[in-house]
Amino acid sequence: MDDTVLIVGGGLTGLGTALHLPAHVPWQLFEKDARPGGHARTECRDGFYFDKTGHWLHLRDPGIKTLVGELFPGDAPGRALLQVDRKARIFSSGVLTRYPFQANLFGLPPSVISECLLGFIEAHSDPHSQEPAQNFADFCDKRFGKGISRHFMLPYNRKLWGVDPAEITAAWCSRFVPIPKLPEVVRGAVGDTPPELGYNAHFLYPREGGIETLVHRIVERLPAERLHRGAPLEQIELATRTAVIGGERFPFRSLVATLPLPELCRRIIDLPAHLVPWVERLRCTPVRYLNVATKVPPRSDYHWLYVPEEKYPFYRVGVYSNAVPSMAPAGCGSFYVELSDRGPLDVARLVPEVLDALVAAGILHSKADLLFADLREIEYAYVVFDDNYYPALAALIPFLESYGVYPRGRYGSWTYNSMEDCLMLGREIAARLSTPSSEAKKT
Ligand SMILES: Cc1cc2nc3c(=O)[nH]c(=O)nc-3n(C[C@H](O)[C@H](O)[C@H](O)COP(=O)(O)OP(=O)(O)OC[C@H]3O[C@@H](n4cnc5c(N)ncnc54)[C@H](O)[C@@H]3O)c2cc1C
Repeated sequence: MDDTVLIVGGGLTGLGTALHLPAHVPWQLFEKDARPGGHARTECRDGFYFDKTGHWLHLRDPGIKTLVGELFPGDAPGRALLQVDRKARIFSSGVLTRYPFQANLFGLPPSVISECLLGFIEAHSDPHSQEPAQNFADFCDKRFGKGISRHFMLPYNRKLWGVDPAEITAAWCSRFVPIPKLPEVVRGAVGDTPPELGYNAHFLYPREGGIETLVHRIVERLPAERLHRGAPLEQIELATRTAVIGGERFPFRSLVATLPLPELCRRIIDLPAHLVPWVERLRCTPVRYLNVATKVPPRSDYHWLYVPEEKYPFYRVGVYSNAVPSMAPAGCGSFYVELSDRGPLDVARLVPEVLDALVAAGILHSKADLLFADLREIEYAYVVFDDNYYPALAALIPFLESYGVYPRGRYGSWTYNSMEDCLMLGREIAARLSTPSSEAKKT
C-alpha cells in the first residue's frame, strides 16, 4: 500500500493539510479547478475585487496567528496584512443600529425597544430560559425573548439559512451568536454603548489582491509538482482503497477529502446500501449574491450591514472598499449583496429592486452610482443543522475513516466554520496522519 497521503481539494483545508504534513510524509494534492482556493478565491473585474462574499479573517488560535504572520511578513506592522476594527450595522425599522442587534437597541423606534427589552427581561426571569432549547427558534425565544427574536433573530436567520429557524438545531450556535447580559442590553438600549461584542470584533485581511492572496501565500510554500490542478476525484473503491482521479488510479492508505461530503459519498462505488439514505438526508442551502461596483465611493463608512426585514431582497451587504481600499479603484466602491431568495430569479427585475433597497438603506446615493452588478452563486453555502444532521454524520464519518478516508473542512466535515477553522482542521489531520497510530482499522 502506498503511504502517500492523497488530499482531495485545494481549498484552505486541503492546503492547510499539505502545509502541516511533516517532510517524512509524502502527499499529493488534487484540485478539480484550474485555481486552488475553493471558497477563498477572489475575482477581479476592471480593477474591482470580489471574494465569494465577505471573507474576513478572524483569528483566535495562537498557532494559526503565527502561521498567518509568517505568511505575510511585513517590514512594518500591517504592511501586508491589514487589521481592521469591525464597523457593522443593522438596518431595521428604517434606521441604522450597531451590531449585534440584541446589545444595541438604541436608535430603534421606542415601541420596538420596549418590546425587545421587556421580552429579554421576561425571558431572563423565566426559570426555564436556561434549559436546552428544542431548536434554533426556541433558542432565540429562550435566550433573547420574543421581541429580539421577532425583530432580528428569526427573520435574519430565515433569510441567511434559507430555511425556517425551527428546522435548525440549537447546537451549532453558541460560538457564533453572542448572548449579552441584561445590563449590556439595557445600556445598549439607552445608548450607553458597550464595547464591540462577538467573535468578530476585529478582522485581518490582505492589503492587496483580496482573500485569495492568503491562498497564494500558502501555495508558494508548497512544492508545485505535488499540487495537481484540473484533477477531479471521480471514484473511490473502499474495498481496495483506490481512488480514480483525472482518469488515473491511485492506491491509498489515507485520503483527506475536502469536497462536500455528499459529493464524496456519491463517488464511492461500494458505499453500503444502508448508508445511502443518510447521504440523501444531508441538506445544504446555496447562496446567490451580487458583485456590485460603483463609480463613486459608498455613502457610509461601515464594512457590512445586516438586513433582517423580509421586504428587502438581501440579508447582508458588505462594502469591500470601505474595509480595504485596494478592493476598488480610487474614488469607486465595491460591494457584495447576499440575496435571500433561493428560488427562480428574474435578474432584469432583481437588480433595480436591489439598487432601490441599497439607496433606502443609505448605502448608495442613487441608482446612477452603479457601474455593474454581476450575479454569482455558491452551490454549497450553508449546511442545514436539522434533526438528521448529527445521526447522519455519526453514521458516515467513522465508517469512512475506518477505510482511511478522512472527510474534513467546511463541506467535508459538513459544518459551519471559518477559514481559520479550516486551517486548524488541516493541522489536526496532518498531525494524526503523521503518527503510526493514524493507521485506519480496515485493510
Ligand atoms: C457565503 C460565505 C461567507 C463566508 N465568509 C467567511 C468569512 O468572512 N470569514 C471566514 O473565515 N470564513 C468565511 N466563510 C467560510 C470559508 O469560506 C470556508 O470555511 C473555507 O473557505 C472552506 O474551505 P474548505 O477547504 O474546507 O472548502 P472549499 O473552499 O470548498 O474547498 C474544497 C475544494 O475542493 C475542490 N473540489 C470539489 N470537488 C472536487 C473533486 N471532485 N475533486 C477534486 N477537488 C474537488 C473545490 O474546487 C475546492 O477547491 C464563508 C463561507 C461562505 C459560504
